[in-house]
Amino acid sequence: MTVVPFRPVPRVTALTEAFWRRGADGVLAIQRCDDCGFYLHPPGPVCPRCGSRAVAPAPVSGDATVVACTVNHQAWYPGWETPYVVAIVELVEQPGLRLTTNVVDCDPYAVHIGMPVRVRFTGVGGDVWLPVFAPAEARG
Ligand SMILES: [Zn+2]
Repeated sequence: MTVVPFRPVPRVTALTEAFWRRGADGVLAIQRCDDCGFYLHPPGPVCPRCGSRAVAPAPVSGDATVVACTVNHQAWYPGWETPYVVAIVELVEQPGLRLTTNVVDCDPYAVHIGMPVRVRFTGVGGDVWLPVFAPAEARG
């Protein structure tokens, strides 16, 4: 796996804590409405579909599909290896449930729209785990 020597660490809040910290256990946690089942990301205090405030982090499968991607050649921080992929992936749990992320552990030029990927986590310090995605050849 590509080692990234430095990344800015996101500020963890009560709303985002599960998203940033549960990666320590390999869990991708997405805010979900207990009343109607709708997932919302980024996490918020109110369900945008039904208005309920009964929202809480829930584990998802970590399976997703690339819906947009680009190959970057600029190392925005010292030590970053180039090229690298910035992508938007859509989680399989719900149409439109998307994360901006990196696709890692593959040829950057092999990443394409429609590619199945699976989450993994990169620790960046402060007990913060960034969800990144890798090709899911074995998904079945
Ligand atoms: Zn709802």
